[in-house]
Amino acid sequence: MLTENIKIIQEELAAFPKVKLIAVTKTKPVETLLEAYQCGLRLFGENKVQEMTAKYEALPKDIHWHLIGHLQGNKVKYIAPFVSMIQSIDSLKLLQEVDKQAKKNDRVIDCLLQVFIAQEETKFGLNEHELFELLASDDFKNLKNIRIKGLMGMATNTDNTTQIHREFQQLKSLFEKTKQIYRPAENIDFTEISMGMSSDYMLAVAEGSTMVRVGSKIFGSRF
Ligand SMILES: *Cc1c(COP(=O)(O)O)cnc(C)c1O
Repeated sequence: MLTENIKIIQEELAAFPKVKLIAVTKTKPVETLLEAYQCGLRLFGENKVQEMTAKYEALPKDIHWHLIGHLQGNKVKYIAPFVSMIQSIDSLKLLQEVDKQAKKNDRVIDCLLQVFIAQEETKFGLNEHELFELLASDDFKNLKNIRIKGLMGMATNTDNTTQIHREFQQLKSLFEKTKQIYRPAENIDFTEISMGMSSDYMLAVAEGSTMVRVGSKIFGSRF
């Protein structure tokens, strides 16, 4: 079942070689993750620090772990030694903590800034003004142990594909605008747009996504 699901998605994505598939493994047991690993998947997304840390310890070390859920500053230290990318940076304060913990581990941690594009009231994500304010600040320029690789966003949970397209286009154009203004520097290298989940990843890819975060379409629904 899992093998079949992964194969279908990989075939759909084959026409887009730049797009990376992040298998969203939250709530799934280690055995299921191992099965996905044996199918060749290496990029796993989790939304909780404790769950991700436990799975990291139990599983092969060539897995790249992406944190995709809201992150509290006091928990950064638990993932700083191994996390591959933090996709859900939503404040300068959090970024400063990631930088501090990365430095302690003698690492540079790749991050995405989470941008608010949906119409729904969700709590997390920067708006355009906050995004530019963060990137323009001196505090940001001083961070040497993080690297901003791009943006992450979530579309509104709706059947209205026109609206989803519009929101993904919005994120893509914000990405392009930011990339124009902030040329590659030591801590910024805009190459990734993480958008698209099980219900909308092909729409996202059509709008320029480079990372799709797919959970239920691979592993079935979560309870
Ligand atoms: C759970 C989650 C996903 C995956 O959702 P599915 O609909 O199961 O594919 C993607 N992104 C984030 C941020 C999530 O929390």
